[in-house]
Amino acid sequence: MARKCTICEHEKVEEINRVLIEGASLSEIVSKYFGITKAALFRHKKNHLPAKLIKAQEIQEVAEADNLLTQVTLLRDKALSILNKAEQAGDLKTALQGIRETKGCLELLAKLQGELQERTEINILLNPQWVSLRTVILRTLEPYPEARLKLVQALKEAEDNAVN
Ligand SMILES: [Zn+2]
Repeated sequence: MARKCTICEHEKVEEINRVLIEGASLSEIVSKYFGITKAALFRHKKNHLPAKLIKAQEIQEVAEADNLLTQVTLLRDKALSILNKAEQAGDLKTALQGIRETKGCLELLAKLQGELQERTEINILLNPQWVSLRTVILRTLEPYPEARLKLVQALKEAEDNAVN
């Protein structure tokens, strides 16, 4: 049967843990807090403190992730509002930039929310570089309508396949 830990049950356990982490010596702590022994402190430091630290770190990480999520959400809202304004003003270049920014935020949000589950596959069709390259290719082919049409059809097929 496990012995009760006088440190874990101590009313000042949080404080004792903190001074332990800060590197205070066991005798120092024993002399400072009522009703604890060096042996109990040693056992607590060895067996209980690491688990507490891991837990504290997890809580911290969850808090940080939450915080990040809030920040990205704010960023997304901002990008969306810029996008709307640019659209209304007919500033298509800025609007495009806004779409890109918004898309980045949404991806990050999805990732943070675990929806992407860290999938490593990259969808090239959603890649902004591909989108602009695609535009360049199609524009270059404008003097050759037949070839252009064929390319558009082939691309459409490829994109449909990739989506389904
Ligand atoms: Zn303990």
